[in-house]
Amino acid sequence: MQYLLNENNAKIVQEIVTAIHANANLLSQIDGETGDGDHGVNMNKGFLMAGERISDEDSFSEALKTLGRTLVMDIGGSMGPIYGTFFSKLSKTFKGEGRITSDLFEKAVLNAKEGLMDLAGAQPGDKTLVDTVVPAYEAFKAANAEGKEFSECLNALKEGAEKGKESTKDMVAKIGRAARLGERSKGHLDAGATSCCIILCTMADGIIANLQSE
Ligand SMILES: [Mg+2]
Repeated sequence: MQYLLNENNAKIVQEIVTAIHANANLLSQIDGETGDGDHGVNMNKGFLMAGERISDEDSFSEALKTLGRTLVMDIGGSMGPIYGTFFSKLSKTFKGEGRITSDLFEKAVLNAKEGLMDLAGAQPGDKTLVDTVVPAYEAFKAANAEGKEFSECLNALKEGAEKGKESTKDMVAKIGRAARLGERSKGHLDAGATSCCIILCTMADGIIANLQSE
């Protein structure tokens, strides 16, 4: 069975920080098509700040906790608390666990998804990051239920996230700044759905690269 050691895997969270940094301009550009164009700047600021506070010796759950706390406390707008809650819920589920299995990961993503949806106040189809996280979770859950290896479940999660992100292109925004555009929000990706896809795919790749098995 495949598992991720909680210890010595702060590097996976640093990879998420790096991915957000690398995509900051793209995220702001996408946000600018339907919103105020600050998504990449805000995200980059918070993630870099967290990256400086995370030490190499931290466990995966400790690093996630620092990231979550930093986003809640130190980045403005609605996205800080939403992503902050997402990472804090992941961290809480993994806390005290030596090994993270596919079952535990599924539980963590469920908790994180619910926390995020409560705060975002969004449902699937509203053209938000919910449209990435829900299909990603569902794809992981389905693969896990079929008894697939953790790595295969993570590949399913990536596919679900990617499809979900792309699906926001054809949606009309129901909440947030983009909702003011109504039908004109169609034809553009949602910036939050895009950053969420980057986060989930980078986390999945980081876990896959560090899986152990017995
Ligand atoms: Mg914005």
